[in-house]
Amino acid sequence: MTTSNTVFTNAKLADGILRDILVENGRITSIEAAGSGQASGHVVDIAGELLVPGFVEGHIHLDTSFYGDKWMPHRPCTNGFDVHERVAFQAENMAAAAPMDKRARDQLNLCIANGTLAMRSHIMVDGSVGLKSLETILAVREDYKDLIDIQLVAFPQSGILKSPGTPELLDEAIRLGADLVGGLDPASFDRDVNGHLDVVFGLAEKHGVDVDIHLHDAGSMGAFTIEEICARTVALGMQGHVAVSHAYGLGDLGADAARKIAATIARSGVSIMTNAPGNHVFPPVALLRSEGVTVFSGSDNIRDSWWPYGDGDMLHRAEIIGYRSGFYTDEDLKAVFDIVTSESAKALRIEDYGIKVGGRADFVTLAAANIPEAVVSLPRARRVFKLGRLIETDKFRYQAAP
Ligand SMILES: [Zn+2]
Repeated sequence: MTTSNTVFTNAKLADGILRDILVENGRITSIEAAGSGQASGHVVDIAGELLVPGFVEGHIHLDTSFYGDKWMPHRPCTNGFDVHERVAFQAENMAAAAPMDKRARDQLNLCIANGTLAMRSHIMVDGSVGLKSLETILAVREDYKDLIDIQLVAFPQSGILKSPGTPELLDEAIRLGADLVGGLDPASFDRDVNGHLDVVFGLAEKHGVDVDIHLHDAGSMGAFTIEEICARTVALGMQGHVAVSHAYGLGDLGADAARKIAATIARSGVSIMTNAPGNHVFPPVALLRSEGVTVFSGSDNIRDSWWPYGDGDMLHRAEIIGYRSGFYTDEDLKAVFDIVTSESAKALRIEDYGIKVGGRADFVTLAAANIPEAVVSLPRARRVFKLGRLIETDKFRYQAAP
């Protein structure tokens, strides 16, 4: 869609050096020292601000957010947290909410204004909603295709074995346009790890799609499930194509056990998504990374039936991960920045990502001295460019609930 050439001058890259970046047909074709003379044609002066690759939202639910809708007070579970009760609350709330496509668009606008240019969203597929949510979000994705790249996961929110007809619905969801097959707590929800994973990996193999499984299970039950997922990933040669979202159980393990399973996860090429939620233990980010595991992140729920939080800002998410992980050094702060950019891009297998020759010209400007400062200061004024084209983020500003 972008046909003209543009030079982005005086852009401060991660190394702190000012550069001029030539973009042709949506791709970066050269990166030179600032003022080196290639600034002909259309020029955009970045004026010394930091220029970073577009954020990657690795886990979000576009179908269930109430962002843009009326304020929806959070309803606590009757007797402590219960996934089944929460799913039931969600069904009631959804019936009273604004149309899904409006809510999804509002949420996308929020994410894009914050600089997210690629995302993976889980969309509920079960006996009650069937494929309706997926059909709605597929249409929204089509409308937003020039603004953001979206992967959709067929997500069995009501389990697979416990919810009759779900294996067939997941199969149909992939035919319809879902890019990945999801899963949900094979042990605690379906009470059959192998039966659940047979369906998930069977569909992945049949359709040649990637896998991203929600796993909230704690302690050794969670760890056992991760080991089973790793074993199947290796057996099917799917290294690099499988993700486990949340993986809370990794946060319950002692350091030795965590290191051992981290090595297994790394060898299996399974990536781990964490949003560092405030009410839970979460995976030990530094330990996983030191063992070679790809750790990526996402907002997960934004103002939905699960929690009232979320602002669609992956830079803020990086800060939250750093804050909860006790990260203080520049190296640590750069690591959380990588988690919401290059590591998430790796987990989502986004090719041509990053500020490099041949990379897509998807980038964001930040008024910050460097990446560590950006992570803690969360500069608000951002210019967002998709394939070298400025997205007018004024159109997408934060909206207060009516
Ligand atoms: Zn989720």
